Amino acid sequence: MPEGPSVKRFQLLTAPFVGQVVAKVGGSSRQRNLKDLKAMRLQDSQASGKNLFLAFGAALEAWTMGGSPSPGPVEEEPTIQGEADRGACSLTLSQEGQEDEVSQLSPKEHSVQRKQETECSVPDAADAAGGIWKWLRFHFGLFGSIRANEFSRANKANKRGDWKDPVPRLVLNFDSGGFLVFYNCRIHWCTSPAVEPASDILSPKFHRGQALAALRQPTSICYTLLDQRYFSGLGNIIKNEILYLARIHPLSQGSLLALSDLESLLDHAVQFSTDWLHKKLAGKGLHYQIYLKEKCPLGHEVMQGTFGPRDGFKRLSWWCPQCQPLQELLEQRRLQP
Ligand SMILES: [Zn+2]
Repeated sequence: MPEGPSVKRFQLLTAPFVGQVVAKVGGSSRQRNLKDLKAMRLQDSQASGKNLFLAFGAALEAWTMGGSPSPGPVEEEPTIQGEADRGACSLTLSQEGQEDEVSQLSPKEHSVQRKQETECSVPDAADAAGGIWKWLRFHFGLFGSIRANEFSRANKANKRGDWKDPVPRLVLNFDSGGFLVFYNCRIHWCTSPAVEPASDILSPKFHRGQALAALRQPTSICYTLLDQRYFSGLGNIIKNEILYLARIHPLSQGSLLALSDLESLLDHAVQFSTDWLHKKLAGKGLHYQIYLKEKCPLGHEVMQGTFGPRDGFKRLSWWCPQCQPLQELLEQRRLQP
């Protein structure tokens, strides 16, 4: 599923529409009361981890740049937000296919992820009746995406030879004449963005101390990295790549690793995610070091395994046994006379 940087890019696509009033609602979604969005004003757009949140309020409500009339949280993102204007234009015109991380998934990774998508299904959240703003949460499945001012076109014929364009889940036409199209995403009403910016790797409010404490738990490091409570927006690609960059075996116990190793892992997590986002905004792809690879950049044979907590999701890991030796093995070698 799209990881943090992809969802952040989606958010930047929606940002230019904030302040505009919805003139027409379309799409195949059966989510309740979506038609109510008509004549409401898009008030805010936030990416939090792997979720996109859009806030809608009464059109009569004054909308001022940077002002928030509701208790909805306002997250300031000076570095990333600076890219918004530059990024939005080119993104609007981009004709790219599926998200790059999706198209490069192996069949095995596909089936694992698809299973998780089903298992992850969240029941509908209650309608946001209490607030001035109504929040919609978008969760993107494997092929989820957003387009601005254009529809996605079929890039190949289906099995029967028909060229059928993808059916949008939701289409929002705005009074300006522009429109947003949402594909393959789950849409729910919610009260407000639920994820804490302190755990969002792409947020300036990301709390390193809290993340470090989580990494030091006596559990396999690759499980902690995918725990969205601590690393919101960090997905399987980022996990594999940063473990390789930090030279850490995915099954290393966090409590056995040196603090300097964990600090380095954290640095790579933030740096890799930020670089990925910037690449996306520039329309560039990502070159993987280890994810889906047979050899590491140094030419060593890469191992592959499916790991996860006993009662949690299992995800595929790629690692190089030479560049990323298991901590316990290192310890044993050190103790040997
Ligand atoms: Zn290697």
